Amino acid sequence: MSSAQGAAAPKCWVCGDPATSGEHGIKKSDLAAVFAKPSQQNPLFHHSHTHTNVRIGNFNSDVLKLPSGLCAKCNNETTQPYDTAWAKFSEHARTRTPRRLA
Ligand SMILES: [Zn+2]
Repeated sequence: MSSAQGAAAPKCWVCGDPATSGEHGIKKSDLAAVFAKPSQQNPLFHHSHTHTNVRIGNFNSDVLKLPSGLCAKCNNETTQPYDTAWAKFSEHARTRTPRRLA
């Protein structure tokens, strides 16, 4: 497609419908479990291979979302069981107490 025709609208990577919402690269539940809630006055700072010291004023910042998108239905319903399973696993991995070796 030429630029005169415009860029194709991003599509949901699950179903192919128009992508109308973003997906967190690091799950919001993991961020909330590890960091204090950020604010504009007390931000977090995000680093990646392309950005340094990007201020994060809340966990819904677009900086924390993947470049690929999802439609609202897939983000809120279709992937929900996987998000819930991840949250349970993550909680277990963060809070488990390894058994002591004799
Ligand atoms: Zn979808």
